[in-house]
Parts: sequence; structure tokens; C-alpha cells
Amino acid sequence: MIHLTAAQMASKLIAGETTSVELTQAHLDRIAAVDSDVHAFLFVDSDGALAQAAAVDALRAAGEKLAPLAGVPLALKDVMVQKGIPTTAGSKILEGWRPPYDSTVVTNLKNNGVVILGKTNMDEFAMGSSTENSAYGPTHNPWDLTRIPGGSGGGSSAALAAFEAPLAIGTDTGGSIRQPAAVTGTVGVKPTYGGVSRFGLIAFSSSLDQAGPCARTVLDAALLHEAIAGHDPKDSTSINAPVPQVVAAAKSGDVKGMKIGVVKELNGDGYQSGVRLRFEESLELLAAAGAEIVEVSAPNFEYALAAYYLIAPSECSSNLARFDAMRYGLRVGEVDGASAESVMNLTREVGFGREVKRRIILGTYALSSGYYDAYYGSAQKVRTLITQDFNKAFQKCDVMVSPTCPTTAFKIGEKSNDPIAMYLNDIATIPVNMAGIGGMSLPAGLAPEDGLPVGFQIMAPAMQDQRMYLVGAALEAALLSQWGAPLLSQAPELVGK
Ligand code: GLN
Repeated sequence: MIHLTAAQMASKLIAGETTSVELTQAHLDRIAAVDSDVHAFLFVDSDGALAQAAAVDALRAAGEKLAPLAGVPLALKDVMVQKGIPTTAGSKILEGWRPPYDSTVVTNLKNNGVVILGKTNMDEFAMGSSTENSAYGPTHNPWDLTRIPGGSGGGSSAALAAFEAPLAIGTDTGGSIRQPAAVTGTVGVKPTYGGVSRFGLIAFSSSLDQAGPCARTVLDAALLHEAIAGHDPKDSTSINAPVPQVVAAAKSGDVKGMKIGVVKELNGDGYQSGVRLRFEESLELLAAAGAEIVEVSAPNFEYALAAYYLIAPSECSSNLARFDAMRYGLRVGEVDGASAESVMNLTREVGFGREVKRRIILGTYALSSGYYDAYYGSAQKVRTLITQDFNKAFQKCDVMVSPTCPTTAFKIGEKSNDPIAMYLNDIATIPVNMAGIGGMSLPAGLAPEDGLPVGFQIMAPAMQDQRMYLVGAALEAALLSQWGAPLLSQAPELVGK
């Protein structure tokens, strides 16, 4: 049962062929069997999940009309607050904290009857590309346990790839939904900024952060997207407009006459040969499905990474100031006569990891008087130039595409002492966040040189998220008929366990 898609699970629930309790228990059993190897979860809420499942089963038995995903289990990234459930954002500084409220995403999941299995591992405060920055130890990629599952949402992507959950929530500030999806052979979508509420999402960089769906198929991602999206008065940046019809798009997959723009600057040198090969093959499949492939240029993408690493640390230095040892979680050095300042200092020293400290220091420096215009101000101008590049390119095409990341999954430890090498993983995903538009990654096959998954990225204009699902569904269908079975059925480490 755990190998079905979420849509198939939902059909079985509706047909009365299984119950949510049975489905939830099957996933809890799977977690018990494999998560000591994968370490996708930081907290498993067995009792809560089974109670939620029983409640959905009771409503169904009573003949209530339920939402499409009612009774299907999900894994929640630990950056999203859930009432009463330990929430750490991967940081020591929040150890033991239980939020007193639900994030809007969690409220929407509960209203849709989606069963929350537990919280998934992540880079501390979503800063990283490998999940090695978690204070609770790394997550392992189910394709090869010695490799990273991507980051910051590596727990969510690994949970999907290891069949510990059919659906997961991720958050994407610079690629943390799409890059983990790419390196684990799963699907991840960063919706248009403002499409999904940020209320109750622990903030990293507020102008870039966006929650979104993670799944094993494009349709499953679309079902989850519609369940969590929509206007929220509690988030001032939430879009007050109808949610794009992404489920209909995922079911149609009709790309006839669509123009697909290949970004000249996001391909070529620096991209692994197998990544390029699978990307080119995917373009051929889309052309065969009736799309027109054109080339587009985005000259300012070259500066996206540098600008991101000023904007994101600047915003994080402000957002993380709230972790002051007074209000949440950890408190260190509280002895008689200790000043509030010394308690704050000691708590932050012990509670924050290296990467988080690096970014707080960098951001504080970039925002300080005399440097603000030179660093933060310039970065914001670059952001405008990137948005203009997208606007110009979208005059020539309906969606833009690129490989999701330059390489397949690297080894745990390979880049953990080299921040710049780590940052370069996001070279192709960051422009989307800078412009606030939507991006999807879906599997394009395995790189021949290492047998590891390659991700294909689709980018759509703001509030046109359905276009990513049209193209994604078309490519997924074409690839499936070529492979004969889902890509994940080839994952060597855990499938069959
Ligand atoms: N890897 C990027 C970073 O470290 C993006 C993280 C994210 O999207 N949350 O900032």
C-alpha cells in the first residue's frame, strides 16, 4: 500500500478498500522499519496521526463528503508550527519547544483531513542544501545512504523517496523544495510567492520564503497544492485571488502549442554531463508532445547567487533576533546575578550552529550603517534586474526550463566545510525566489555516470502555477512510458525492504 500514489490511496479510501487508520499504520510501520537508516523524521506523532485517521474514518463512515486527500498521510517539515507538537526548525535553540498554535498550512491540512505523521529533518532554520546543518544529525538519501538528500528540506524528500509518506510539506527560500526533490527523484513545487500562507512558518528570509507541496507524482503535488493554498488574512503578503487550477492542469498535461523557453545561462559548463543529457532528452520528449522549444536569455541570473547571499542573510539576521532565550526553547547560563545579556549571549552561542551564526553575522554587517546601500541596496537592485529578465523572457515563452541543480546528490561530508561550494547547488533555483514566481522540479531520469536522479526545473510567471503542472504532467507521462515504471522503483537502497 505504501508504494501507491497519494491519488491512488485516496481512491482506495473512497472505494472502502482501506481505511485511513490502516494506511497510517502502514506508514508508521515503514517509518519504524527504515527511519533508523534514513533519519527523515525528527518526531513521529504516532498517537496523534492514528487519532486523526480514526476521526476521518468515522466521518467517512457517517457519509460525510470529504476533501480529495482526506485520510492520506503526510510528513511535515519541522519549520512549520503545529500546535502541541515539538518544533525545532532543525535548531538546538528551539529544542523542547511546543508551539501554542497551528500554522495556516497545518490548519488547511487538518481541514482537508490530511493525516500528519510527524516532523521532518532539515538544515537549521532552512539554511543549507544538504540537511547536514541540522542540529540533530544528517538525513540520508534513500538512493544511496552515504549521500545527501538535498536541503534544506532533505527530511521531507527522503521520507517520500523511502516510502515513509506519500506527501510532504517543504519550504523554499532559494531552492529547498526543488533541490531536495531533484536529488531524491521526487516532485517538489515552490508556488508563486504569496500563494501559500507563511503564517506559522518559522521565518528565514521573509521576502523569499514560500511553503509548497512535495510528492512522488505531479498530480499528487497538485492535489496537495490546492489543499494548502489560498488567501490568508493572517499573512499580509498572501495573494487575495483564486488559487490556480493546478489539479485540472496536472490531469490534462496538454502542452500542444506551448512555448518552452530553455534558459541559455542555466545549462552548459558546470553542469554534470548526465544532468545535461537527461535535460536534453526531456526537451525532446516535450517537443514530441507538441510543445515548441525556444531559447531565452537571462543575463542577470549570473548575479542571482551573490545577491541572494546578501538578501537572505540580511533578512535572517533580523528574523532570528527573536531567539533571545527569553521567549522560546533553550535558555543557558541562568544563574544568580546573570544579566539578561549574558544569558542571551550564552544561549545563542550554544543554541545556534555554525552556518546560522555565519549568516547572522554576514547579514548584520550588510545592513549596518554605511554598508547598507553598498550591499543590501545593490542586491535589491539586482533583484529587480532578475525580475525584468524573467518578464522579457516570458514574452517569448509560456514557461522557462533548466536543470534543477548542476549535479546529482553528493556525498555526506563532501561540501560541509566549504560554504561557497554548498551555495553553488542553488545556482539554478534562486532566480525563481528572487522574482517571486513559481518553480517545479520533477525527475528526469538517472545520470548514467552515477545512477542517481536528475531534476528538471519548470518556471512559470507569477500566479500562473498551473502552467508548471501542464508541462510537468506531460513530461512525467512521456518519461513513464519510456521507463515502463516509476523512477523510484529503481532506487536500490530501501525499496523492497
Ligand atoms: N540552500 C539555500 C540556502 O542555504 C536555500 C535554502 C532554502 O530554500 N530554504 O539558503
